[in-house]
Amino acid sequence: MFPIAFHPIFKYPVPEGHRFPMDKYELLPLQLLHEGIAEESDFFSPEPIDMPPVYAAHDRVYADRFVAGQLSRQEVRRIGFEQSPRLVERELRIARGTVDGALKAFETGIAFNIAGGTHHASRDAGEGFCMINDQAVAAQYLVDHGMARQVLIADLDVHQGNGTADIFANEPRVFTFSMHAKNNYPFRKKKSDLDVELPDRADDSIYLTLLLDTFPALIERVKPDFIFYQAGVDILATDKLGRLSCTIDGCRQRDEIVLQTASKLGIPVQCSMGGGYSPQLKTIIDAHANTYRVAGQL
Ligand SMILES: [Zn+2]
Repeated sequence: MFPIAFHPIFKYPVPEGHRFPMDKYELLPLQLLHEGIAEESDFFSPEPIDMPPVYAAHDRVYADRFVAGQLSRQEVRRIGFEQSPRLVERELRIARGTVDGALKAFETGIAFNIAGGTHHASRDAGEGFCMINDQAVAAQYLVDHGMARQVLIADLDVHQGNGTADIFANEPRVFTFSMHAKNNYPFRKKKSDLDVELPDRADDSIYLTLLLDTFPALIERVKPDFIFYQAGVDILATDKLGRLSCTIDGCRQRDEIVLQTASKLGIPVQCSMGGGYSPQLKTIIDAHANTYRVAGQL
């Protein structure tokens, strides 16, 4: 079993005009409990994070303005959610869940956050439903506290981890790897340490061949002693936003490649949820649950 960050406030405030299946945050824990992949005692409820670790990854003025609800109309529009104390609390609890999960992963090998993977949040701005970059905050925390020498952020969400790339542009202790659909948002991409771009409608065979060619060799080269995995399931063919054509089983094999490679080398992993916008909630839950199922079989 492995630690899983969860708090009822993780449920998304549904933005005006959107019909995103936001209640995956509530249903996934129930599915994990139902299948016996997790027990009640595996879940931990993170407190809101203190600000100093947030300031280490984000511009202090931006972070303070976000917490105080002082972002401009234009900034709010880029984010896609109205400002509210509840939204602030949600982001701060998710960030703490990822930091605490990372600390726990040193003991357990792997830890999860039911939410998070807010990889579009850059150093001084939020966008694309992301305000505080949970894995960036946690990665910076580990290297700043001497708990990791070299971190790898493996971002396999269909969208590029542009915010993460921005935050670590000048931080050699955190290597950013993003494999994503070339023609998906963000349309102006940032430069990760390694970007792998996929063409529209790339299927399991193209996706998994490329990942197998890339990931183990990357681990060999970067030699991380901690991995953050952004395991978005918006690579599925059914996804409303993603432009790839992977199957649920292909998505599961992706998780296997990442988690088995890390496990064989004894590298601890913290895994945040990332995106998933298939029309059927069952598809989304099944694909996310697969990441936990794979972890349970390591
Ligand atoms: Zn995404």
